[in-house]
Amino acid sequence: MREEPHAPDHHHRQRPGLTAGIYAARAGLEPVLFASSVEPGGELMNTTDVENFPGFPEGIQGPELMEKIQAQAERFGTKVVYDDVTALELDGDVKRITTSDGTVHETQAVIFATGSAYRKIGLPEEERLSGHGLSWCATCDGFFFREKTIAVVGGGDSAMEEATFLTRFASKVYVIHRREELRASKIMQQRAFDNEKIEFIWNAEVAGILGDDAVTGVRLRDTVSGEERELALEGLFVAIGNDPRTHLVHGQLELTAEGTIAVDGRSSKTSLPGVFAAGDVVDPTYRQAVTAAGSGTVAALDAEHYLASLEDSKE
Ligand code: NAP
Repeated sequence: MREEPHAPDHHHRQRPGLTAGIYAARAGLEPVLFASSVEPGGELMNTTDVENFPGFPEGIQGPELMEKIQAQAERFGTKVVYDDVTALELDGDVKRITTSDGTVHETQAVIFATGSAYRKIGLPEEERLSGHGLSWCATCDGFFFREKTIAVVGGGDSAMEEATFLTRFASKVYVIHRREELRASKIMQQRAFDNEKIEFIWNAEVAGILGDDAVTGVRLRDTVSGEERELALEGLFVAIGNDPRTHLVHGQLELTAEGTIAVDGRSSKTSLPGVFAAGDVVDPTYRQAVTAAGSGTVAALDAEHYLASLEDSKE
C-alpha cells in the first residue's frame, strides 16, 4: 500500500470551500482559500463516478469535478494556499489564521468548511494495521487488493460504493454490517446485491482485527447472539461514516449535540459575527456534493452581506 495510507485523519476538504470561493471572488472579495497541504478537494477526491451532480448526465469522476470547480474559483481570483491551518482566532473584528509555516493571515470574515473525517471502529489495532491491509479509501488503495479476499465494514452509501468499486480488483468482498437492514439508498443497495462478488454478513460487528504486520482477518461478534467467530481476510476497508472536523474551533464556536457547528437557521452564521460555516462540518444529514456546494454559496453570500454591513457602519 502507499506510504501515506488513508487513515481517518487524512485531510479531505474544500468542495463547499471552492464554491464559496467562486461566489466570493465574483463579488470582488479577494478570497483566500486554505487548502490542506495534503490533498484538497474534499471527499469527492476519493469518489469514483459521481452520477448525481446536476449537469453531468453521463457522470463525472470526483477528482475531475473538483478540478473544474477549483479552476472556476481561481478564474475569478480565488487564491489557493496549500498549507494546513494550525490555529484560528475568531473573536474580534479582525480574525487571525495561522498556517503551519507560522504565517498569520488577517481577515474580516472567515468561512469554515473543513468537512469531516473518517470514523474509526475504535479498536487499538487500527493504528498499527492502517496502511497494512486496513484502509479507509477504496479508490486510493483498492489497487493493492487484486484477486484478494477482503471486507468492507458499514451499511451506508459509502460502504456500498466502496464494496462495489472494490470488486474491480478483489476476488471476493464481504460487507460486514451491524444490523440486518442497510442504511444505504435503494439504488446503491441493489447494485451491491446484484454483484456476484459481494457477500453480506448481517448482524455482525468487528470485535478485533487480526494480524501482526498485516491484516489476516477479523474477529466478528454476532450482534444478536453475541457469538464470536473468525473470518480470514487479506484486507479490510472501513466505511462507517464521518465526524465533523471541528478541533480548530473548539471553545470558540458553538457546536450542536451532533458535534457539527451550530448555525443560525438556514444561514451559515455561527455563534461569532463574521464567522460562517458550510458543508459537512454543519450538516449531519444530507452530506451530498451538491448540498455542500449549495451551502458554500450560502456562506459566501452571508459573508458578503456581513462585509457590506461593516462598510455601511463606517460611513
Ligand atoms: P452513514 O450513512 O452514516 O452510514 C454509516 C454506516 O456505518 C451505517 O450503516 C452505520 O450502521 C454504520 N456504522 C456507524 N458506526 C459504526 C460502528 N462504530 N461500527 C459498525 N458500523 C457502524 O455514512 P456514509 O455511508 O459514509 O454516508 C454519509 C453520507 O454521504 C450519506 O448521506 C450518504 O448518502 C452520502 N453518500 C452518498 C453517496 C452517493 O450518493 N453516491 C456515496 C457515499 C456517501 P447503522 O446503519 O446501524 O447506523
